[in-house]
Amino acid sequence: MPYVIAAPCIDVTDKSCIEECPVDCIYEGDRKLYINPKECIDCGACEPVCPVEAISQDRRVATEYGDFVADNAAFFTVTLPGRDEPLGNPGGAAELGPVGVDTELVAGYES
Ligand code: SF4
Ligand code: SF4
Repeated sequence: MPYVIAAPCIDVTDKSCIEECPVDCIYEGDRKLYINPKECIDCGACEPVCPVEAISQDRRVATEYGDFVADNAAFFTVTLPGRDEPLGNPGGAAELGPVGVDTELVAGYES
């Protein structure tokens, strides 16, 4: 049951959560951050530090943000704009660096 980041993070991206994650599985897009569901160990450390309450366990995501469960995963399984292949499971966000693009849902999201 991985944690996911929903719409409130969009255009906030203060990155408080990154500093809490023991496995460095929170990746930086352009307008939003994304948790890799295969790398997340479900520790919950990131959830309380988010100033806009964007983070929750996938089964507890508010109904209005339901699409963001699949969208967090899609960031890693879909070929993002400007790339030749999906990110997959890079094993560490710091080493990968900012990805700089978003999923289709987030890129076009109007908050
Ligand atoms: S629940 Fe833990 S492992 Fe998963 S993203 Fe948050 S801090 Fe990282
Ligand atoms: S702490 Fe919340 S708003 Fe800040 S980057 Fe993480 S998910 Fe986004």
